[in-house]
Amino acid sequence: MMKETKIRNLRGELDEAIRIDERQLADSIRAIGFRCRKCAQCCRAEHGDNTVSIFPFEIRRICERTGLEPEDIVTPTPSLDTDSEGNIHTFEWVLRKDGDCIFLKSGLCKIYECRPYICKTYPFYLLEGRLMVSECMGLGGVISSEESQRIATLLKERYITEIKESILLLERFNGFNGFNGLNCLNPDSMRNICVHDSEGEHWVPERDKIRLI
Ligand code: SF4
Repeated sequence: MMKETKIRNLRGELDEAIRIDERQLADSIRAIGFRCRKCAQCCRAEHGDNTVSIFPFEIRRICERTGLEPEDIVTPTPSLDTDSEGNIHTFEWVLRKDGDCIFLKSGLCKIYECRPYICKTYPFYLLEGRLMVSECMGLGGVISSEESQRIATLLKERYITEIKESILLLERFNGFNGFNGLNCLNPDSMRNICVHDSEGEHWVPERDKIRLI
């Protein structure tokens, strides 16, 4: 699909997202039920995929609060897209993990106040405007109307942000001379990585090169 068409479609999705009725969303959340058990399973590796995608402005906010550098806290998400020189191109940053999220210490989130949207809204997310839920021990718990309203507001905000970030990414994306040809390349070799995000292109420093597989 042409870039302009994708952007037009995303603008349509954005209009719909802005019209989402937060009160209805809050009612749906209350009907499902949720109470965080503070088990931190969603941050741990042993309980499944604990990957946290993160936007550039969220990375900046965490760096400002912690004094850490972006390369200390995020890494490019793995990708099979390569250019003709063998460099990897990817479209997302994810929080670093050492198995568990690097910010999980003694069962607590060390960046709780500035944690990314995904963490703030877990186990809920919106897909094509519909409420979805991930696996979570807290589902089914009793939730107050204030809390369900708070989550609904955050969910809508997250969804709108996701769409806006995708539009900006596409507007700034200049493409690359590439192919999806993992099998043509030596999987043991180390390559440079370019992350395309809503703020443009970022080439990952030499020390952060990652393996293709
Ligand atoms: S940032 Fe905090 S809430 Fe999010 S996965 Fe890491 S430890 Fe868990």
